[in-house]
Amino acid sequence: MKLDDFKKLPPRQTTSSPTRKPTATSTAAQDITEFLDNWKTEFAADCGEFAPYKDGRKAIFQICPFEPEHNNGQAAIFQNADGVISFHCLGERCKDKKWPDLRKLREPDYDD
Ligand SMILES: [Zn+2]
Repeated sequence: MKLDDFKKLPPRQTTSSPTRKPTATSTAAQDITEFLDNWKTEFAADCGEFAPYKDGRKAIFQICPFEPEHNNGQAAIFQNADGVISFHCLGERCKDKKWPDLRKLREPDYDD
């Protein structure tokens, strides 16, 4: 979808801050963006605000959700321009931790 098409879409109902500009441009990515905003509000209040990163955005955990000694902001949630969500922590013990692991950790009802 071109940017011009995106602008023609009606405004979406959202409970998040209306001043926050979406960084993704496809409808699917927009849906995932809303999901992630809501998810972070509900399950990751300790995570910082999203900031632009490469062609998407990222939000940093000052303290890693998996290993509290990773407290230098090594852990972050990433979302690329296609809306794809990932989690990454630079801490050695977290190198196998992925986005689904974070969901399992935080969402009581998460089941993949
Ligand atoms: Zn970590």
